[in-house]
Amino acid sequence: MNAVSVDTAGRPPSVDALARELANRHTLPHAILVDCARRAIANSNPQEAERLATDFARSLFRDVVNATGVLLHTNLGRAPIEVHAQGRASNLELNMLTGERGSRQDAVGKLLALLCGAESAIVVNNNAAAVLLVVAALANGRDVAVSRGESVEIGGNFRIPEVIEQSGARLIDVGTTNRTRLRDYQKAIDKRGNDIALVLKVHPSNYRVEGFVEDTPIRELASLSVPVVADIGSGLIDNTCPWLEGRTPAWLTNEPGARQTLNDGAALVMFSGDKLFGGPQCGVIAGRADLIASCTQHPLARALRPGSLTILSMQSLALAYLGRTASSEIAFWNMATISVNDLQSRAQKIVSAASTGEVIEMDSIPGAGSAPGARIASAGVVISGDYLAQLRNHSTPVIARVKDSKTFIDLRTVRPADDAVVIDALRSINGLR
Ligand SMILES: *Cc1c(COP(=O)(O)O)cnc(C)c1O
Repeated sequence: MNAVSVDTAGRPPSVDALARELANRHTLPHAILVDCARRAIANSNPQEAERLATDFARSLFRDVVNATGVLLHTNLGRAPIEVHAQGRASNLELNMLTGERGSRQDAVGKLLALLCGAESAIVVNNNAAAVLLVVAALANGRDVAVSRGESVEIGGNFRIPEVIEQSGARLIDVGTTNRTRLRDYQKAIDKRGNDIALVLKVHPSNYRVEGFVEDTPIRELASLSVPVVADIGSGLIDNTCPWLEGRTPAWLTNEPGARQTLNDGAALVMFSGDKLFGGPQCGVIAGRADLIASCTQHPLARALRPGSLTILSMQSLALAYLGRTASSEIAFWNMATISVNDLQSRAQKIVSAASTGEVIEMDSIPGAGSAPGARIASAGVVISGDYLAQLRNHSTPVIARVKDSKTFIDLRTVRPADDAVVIDALRSINGLR
């Protein structure tokens, strides 16, 4: 396969000759092949150029098939999304009614506000940005009261004390690690008077504390004299899931809804767009119009604003929720609600077509810190042996899971249209192609 040769005098090939030779097998731009060739020759190992080029091609950003059973997989971009840009200009900041300069937030903000039952809403780059902006705009130079049990780290480097510090506010610890009551918050407010600008409530997204624990629900916090802002994390719009035919799935029962949190008296909610909302990476701030206006006017708002693809995607998802077509049109809800029976019959077809593996029942998990500890019954294919790397190196990579030297393909997170890819990948493991 590798035709790199040393000439008759034993000299290594020139960088250019080696790059041109790589071009026989790689479609990468010439400049990249030259770089691979140069590095291989510098290592006195021209043969290595082939592997460098292959590794580079594999490292490129691309679509993969998520067969892990983790619905919102952080390494796989969380919620799967579809975005169609037309290659045309857009009315991103053109007010279509007046022909003047408008705001990219107006339409999408209106739709999101309607969805959550809020006065107003805006979209920023992610939920970390949403929390940062809210605290910077509403509590700069003042205090933010947070329960000791909620002063947490969520995911890579999102740490509540550090976010508050970065926003120019001071963190006031309230209560204890396992129990924080309304009177603890009241005491902090009485002691510090006007210094406390906000109470920040943080949903324990990726962990669960059990035993002698107590926190204060938003309903009670709402009786305090300062606004309560809630980082609910996962972005479940409405805990009654009106866009689903049945009732709220059991695995979502403990997940706070944006609508319910605002109803309970939160002044603002902040959440991720790419978790249970099923959208692109972004953060949403929804709630009181005066507080949202303060966020919009803060200089950080400009640095944290989303681009047109994000606005477009959030707008179509919000329309799908409002039109009650979310369960068919939003890829995340599609995979979250497909029946185990459907998954089993797909698994059966895959096993027959690939002539390998067995159908197996398994559990999927929501992932990305949503509904920690929850499991969703699922089905898929199991093969003995560890084939993670082979599946990952398939022409359309299939990302599976390995346990006890068995490879598991969970079909809940695989789009039905990708079953053919799974069959193909399994056949190639099996040496059938
Ligand atoms: C996921 C999460 C975040 C971080 O959100 P990003 O959109 O990844 O920035 C912050 N807070 C909570 C409670 C979360 O669950």
